[in-house]
Amino acid sequence: MNVPDPQTTLARWLSGPRFSRLPDHGPDAGPPKLSFEFFPPRTDALEAQLWACIRRLEPLAPRFVSVTYGAGGSTQARTHATVARIVTDTSLTPAAHLTCVGASRGEIDDVARQYWDAGIRHIVALRGDVPGGGPYVPHPDGYAYASDLVAGLKRVADFEISVAAYPEIHPTASSPLADLENLKRKLDAGATRAITNYFFDNATFLRFLDLALAAVRGRAFALTLAGVGTFAKGGRETQLWAGVARNPALDHLQNKVETALQRAGLEPERRRFTPHVTLARLRHPDTDKIIEWLTQHALYTSEEFAVDGFHLYSSKLTSDGSIYRIEHSYDLRGFHGETGD
Ligand code: FAD
Repeated sequence: MNVPDPQTTLARWLSGPRFSRLPDHGPDAGPPKLSFEFFPPRTDALEAQLWACIRRLEPLAPRFVSVTYGAGGSTQARTHATVARIVTDTSLTPAAHLTCVGASRGEIDDVARQYWDAGIRHIVALRGDVPGGGPYVPHPDGYAYASDLVAGLKRVADFEISVAAYPEIHPTASSPLADLENLKRKLDAGATRAITNYFFDNATFLRFLDLALAAVRGRAFALTLAGVGTFAKGGRETQLWAGVARNPALDHLQNKVETALQRAGLEPERRRFTPHVTLARLRHPDTDKIIEWLTQHALYTSEEFAVDGFHLYSSKLTSDGSIYRIEHSYDLRGFHGETGD
């Protein structure tokens, strides 16, 4: 049989319709960052097959590879053995799945410590399901939910932690919003990445992303005005403005707003983001006076001030200038959690 080269298969997937319509995959974006999930092998033959597979996938340099975790001692030992061998025998970065099912907090913490000692720094923290089906009942001394497990793992060591997310909503969640609040709890507890299982329709994932973006709040930050400049139209300076000192929190907020707008169907903004405060619009610009003003105020800086909210405006251009109206206000106060958004 002719086995296709993984690089060729990957290139074919990435240029296909499923990937090209995903966010952050426009023409300017780099290749998506990959991870692969493996199941711990049950037999020697499956183990040999897994390792042949790992060797073929290794040249694709995934960001990490993870190994799932089952209920029961023997499958759990196989997960441990597989991730430990990935650390010692390959150039890959492994992540070990870990669940709350059927174990006390002390037992789970011990497994986590063994992972840390074996050089495994990334855990995919999950609640797990009852083997054979049936309603989930937490272990009396165990971590009840994945968010509790994340907090417990962070107490054991400074693991990188990924958690599960459900674009099609977890089957036992009371509502889509409750499920999203649970995801936020996991991120607030210390997780920095959410992984979904496969889904068949990109639209489901994109709707989930919109919901998540609307739910994740930014935080208040401080801003300083700095420098001045002009905007020109038809070769004439028509606007004077004060600039804003470089500010990662503002860039991050703008990025989130831009992403949300694109997800809502708006065209991407092609102009460079130039945060500024408009000081004057000039009907009859005088070039000499403008240059003099720019020179005088080139080193302008304001006091630092707090930004604890922002408005979405609509603007209508009339012969007397633009009329602005606040359409919606967003409050950035009262958010203290860290999220991996
Ligand atoms: P949680 O985040 O704890 O959520 C479970 C349910 O409880 C949700 O409905 C949530 O809304 C609800 N909930 C959470 N907190 C509360 C609360 N305080 N009060 C009331 N309700 C609450 N399973 C395995 O056994 N081994 C694996 O290796 C494995 N890998 C997986 C990898 C991925 C990427 C995914 C998406 C799933 C994986 N699973 C695995 C399956 C997972 O264990 C199940 O989907 C499980 O039912 C939920 O796990 P969770 O971590 O999402 O749980």
